[in-house]
Amino acid sequence: MASADLTRLYKLHLIDVGILEIKKKAVSLEAGKRHQAELEALTAQFKKVEAAFHQIHGEQKDIELSNQQIDDKVKSIDNLLFGGSIKNSKEIESYEAQKKSLAKQKSGNEDRLLEVWDKVSVAESAFKAEKKTLDERTKAFEEWKAKATIFKGQLESKYKELMTLRPNAAKGIDPTLIAKYEATKQQHHGIGVALVTKQQTCEECGTKVSDKSIESIKDDRIVNCEECHRILYWTGGIV
Ligand SMILES: [Zn+2]
Repeated sequence: MASADLTRLYKLHLIDVGILEIKKKAVSLEAGKRHQAELEALTAQFKKVEAAFHQIHGEQKDIELSNQQIDDKVKSIDNLLFGGSIKNSKEIESYEAQKKSLAKQKSGNEDRLLEVWDKVSVAESAFKAEKKTLDERTKAFEEWKAKATIFKGQLESKYKELMTLRPNAAKGIDPTLIAKYEATKQQHHGIGVALVTKQQTCEECGTKVSDKSIESIKDDRIVNCEECHRILYWTGGIV
């Protein structure tokens, strides 16, 4: 069995592993920045498509309005012509010429309108598709943010809890051992202690722990894994 000092160190190590896990999990919250950037890019794209749709749709409305105005003008000319008040042939000719010009203008409008309708239809489909994507992604991001806020809160409270426990857990451990542990931890991605498994291997790297090492542990000596150099903790084969 491990010495009381090592047992205390092992408990401290478990707290540190917990803290390390929290830090790793907190990294996943960084994804929020990526989501945000993606959403901003989508919004910019949507605005482009929306502007294109409004532009072509606006042109359609303008042409329709122009046609309406032409119809009104033709109607008022007809009223004049058929009202019987205009007798002068030159004046009649002038009105007829106006009507002809208006008809030509309307014909041009109709041609353009055919092209515009196609474009409006395409632009409207693109606008609707982009809006749907943006709405879905916005909703998903809002949901993610809500969950992330809860998760962040949980991580923070667990972190606080472990950080409160840590000083007490470190109390009473030989300062030399603590210093060794801290140095090992720093060199090995935050994990300074490794459990010796039932199969007598290092739990962290899987290297076989020699009988000689086990004997040394039994003699309350600090033994490091030959491969990963972590401080070995032995439960006497219990776990
Ligand atoms: Zn190892």
